[in-house]
Parts: sequence; C-alpha cells; structure tokens
Amino acid sequence: MSDWKCSKCGYMLKADQPPNECPSCKEKCEFVDNTCYTPDCPAGGIDKRI
Ligand SMILES: [Zn+2]
Repeated sequence: MSDWKCSKCGYMLKADQPPNECPSCKEKCEFVDNTCYTPDCPAGGIDKRI
C-alpha cells in the first residue's frame, strides 16, 4: 500500500495503484506517491514535502 495524492486537488488515498480518475475532482489527474520512505518518519507517515 502506498499513499497517493492528487496533483490537482490534493486528495489523498491509500492504494496499491493510483486510480485513473480522481474521486474528488472527477478528472484524470496525476497522482503522486507521497508515502514517506525515510527512516526518520513514523510508520505509515506521509511525506509533507510533497
Ligand atoms: Zn483530484
């Protein structure tokens, strides 16, 4: 599971793969993986820089 964030509206969801269509803005958006992988983040943390 990864955290995904819509690059248009900022909608976030957890999924293995990002959806084709954003459930929030109903458009084909680019989803960015903002899962925080660095060890100083808490488990399941989200990278706030994205
Ligand atoms: Zn969106």
